[in-house]
Amino acid sequence: MAHYKKIESALIHGGIYGDKTTGAVNVPIYQTSTYEQQGLGQNTGWEYSRTGNPTRAALEALIAELEGGAAGFAFASGLAAITTVLSLFREGDKILISSNVYGGTFRLLDQVFQNFGIRYAIADTTDPASFEAAITPEVRAVLVESPANPLLTITDLAAVSAIAHRHGLLSIVDNTFMTPYLQRPLELGADIVVHSATKYLGGHSDLIAGLAVVKDAALAERLAFLQNAAGGVLGPFDSFLLIRGIKTLGVRMDRHVENAEKAAAFLQAHPAVERVYYPGLPDAQGYTINRKQARNGGAMISFALDEKHDIRTFFSSLKLIALAESLGGVESLVCHPATMTHASIPRDIREAVGITDSLIRLSIGIENIDDLLLDLEQAITESEVP
Ligand SMILES: *Cc1c(COP(=O)(O)O)cnc(C)c1O
Repeated sequence: MAHYKKIESALIHGGIYGDKTTGAVNVPIYQTSTYEQQGLGQNTGWEYSRTGNPTRAALEALIAELEGGAAGFAFASGLAAITTVLSLFREGDKILISSNVYGGTFRLLDQVFQNFGIRYAIADTTDPASFEAAITPEVRAVLVESPANPLLTITDLAAVSAIAHRHGLLSIVDNTFMTPYLQRPLELGADIVVHSATKYLGGHSDLIAGLAVVKDAALAERLAFLQNAAGGVLGPFDSFLLIRGIKTLGVRMDRHVENAEKAAAFLQAHPAVERVYYPGLPDAQGYTINRKQARNGGAMISFALDEKHDIRTFFSSLKLIALAESLGGVESLVCHPATMTHASIPRDIREAVGITDSLIRLSIGIENIDDLLLDLEQAITESEVP
């Protein structure tokens, strides 16, 4: 029985804590591919590190506990996690995806799984009725992000999961933008949660990793089989780094969100800013639903400058905030979804779902907010078209 009740403590003490043999407070890095067997058919429970590794197992137990699932699985990247989850399906099956999913997830379905006869369709999951109307007999699952990338649109995860179950579908949620500290989709009815742990869970922009958590034991068995069969597992050293990152998730997220709320308010009040997308703003799409299902609005903000400002100049004028792919690290990052994270989505689809060329996405870090606002202000001023 755990000696704690709250997630802030689970982040530090959850899963498998320390090392029983030596008393080390951290799980050691078991940098080994194989394990000596005591005789034919006799082993310590560890046989080969693709199948299982103690450092990875500690991480997997930790994320399962944090998300409230039956089992967790660690992969070499978020997309490796999503690939393995999608391998649950077969030719003829169809997956419904929300209209703003991560570009790499779209590309995986569009250019890889489609070749194997697993198809997808885009559904507006922000409107449960419209999502339900998109369910045809071949549909087997729904894959949702809330907030979705990059317009931060909110889907009612409980409503969508309930509809999915009524139609015999699996409900899969990509919880990368929120993390279990802010939102726990399995408790809202989802069957599978996936993460790009590269982002907030790792938190320091120093590793690529993915995680999946399943709610029930039967699904856990199927995913364990696929993890070992397909083999896209996370190595011991990266598993250690991820456990280390997760220990500070609570304090990092508190500061990320505090800064993001201030940055969103600053942008919303700025005369040069045409539109701000942030689920923590009371006039944002899905604000009330997000309040119900998540702790707060997270730390991702998208916005558009008016036509009197040049976004190329804006990007090149930022001094503290780095222009880079990715998000969720301690340092603030900015990106241009149309040509970066969402470039793999054809322009017509991209623009139809609102990812225009003028959109700017911010991952608010944990620096001092005054420095971040000064950087945004000076870059907006610089980018004014004469
Ligand atoms: C980055 C990201 C992914 C892909 O994860 P990788 O670790 O880069 O493979 C998937 N979903 C979301 C929401 C992401 O932001």
